[in-house]
Amino acid sequence: MPGTNGSLLTVRDLVKHFEIRKGIFGKVREYVRAVDGVSFEIAPGETLGLAGESGCGKTTTGRLILRLLDATSGHVSFNGSPNLLGLTQSEMRPYRKEMQIIFQDPYSSLNPRLTVGSTISEPLKIFGLAKTREERRARCVELLNAVGLEEDHLSRYPHEFSGGQRQRIGIARALSVEPSLIIADEPVSALDVSIQAQIVNLLIDLRNRLGLSYLFIAHDLSIVKHISHRVAIMYLGRIVELAGKEELYCRPLHPYTHALLAAVPVPDPAKRKQKQLLEGDVPSPVSPPPGCRFHPRCAQKFDPCDKIEPPLVDIGGHCIACHLYPEGSSLPEPVA
Ligand code: SF4
Repeated sequence: MPGTNGSLLTVRDLVKHFEIRKGIFGKVREYVRAVDGVSFEIAPGETLGLAGESGCGKTTTGRLILRLLDATSGHVSFNGSPNLLGLTQSEMRPYRKEMQIIFQDPYSSLNPRLTVGSTISEPLKIFGLAKTREERRARCVELLNAVGLEEDHLSRYPHEFSGGQRQRIGIARALSVEPSLIIADEPVSALDVSIQAQIVNLLIDLRNRLGLSYLFIAHDLSIVKHISHRVAIMYLGRIVELAGKEELYCRPLHPYTHALLAAVPVPDPAKRKQKQLLEGDVPSPVSPPPGCRFHPRCAQKFDPCDKIEPPLVDIGGHCIACHLYPEGSSLPEPVA
């Protein structure tokens, strides 16, 4: 059931500053500003892609929502719930069932000492979803079939499977408690390219059949495009652009999004664009640049960019944080 604003998940001003302790007394000297004021919503049945370079804060954002990390501040609401960030562990329990995660690494995310059957049935026991051994086994078989595996896989161990099969087991484990929202944290980036499309198509099929919502975290913009309804681009702890998939890929506004899209390989040589490579290195999140955080690498920077941080503004349903598009701007023509 959606919350009062119609969204399943609402994230407001989410912040995570990791302390850096130095010196013999371990005093806090600095902070890594991993996530620095992130806001978005996800509707029931919707997939929001969260993309950006490594270290931009997208994985940390997913973990803060699930309370796998403690946030510095912010507000996270699920189905109109009170702020999840302020709940005790026991108060969080019902929401843990509703929100599950698929991890990036299918090799380290499964316990090598547990059979597939034990891995998938463990959450069923914890949440009391199947009382008897027979019920649990039947549910496990159902889940394995849903992700393209067989009943005889139940008694096997993770090392007997390929990376793609292990990720299918991870998906079955996430589905076992019948969640509404899955945070998929780079779920295909550790897999062979030939397997990636199979897993993404499986996720799309499951979303359509079960009415799931996803926060799909990835750095590969072509995969994000394939699965997402809307896409948010993160840079140094902040969302710099957020729009519907077609809108963002046909009419990217932020210079950083332009650079990311220019780096996506295009199979047709006739359609290859002149590469607009990013200049310089990603600045340190310990001391982000003043003004627009992207300004040291931006070819279009102008006077206010190194002094004033641009807010994320909504221009006709396309959210953008760039001085080139102040509030009230009109949208340019889409890129052909
Ligand atoms: Fe570039 Fe300025 Fe826009 Fe930042 S605000 S992306 S520096 S033009």
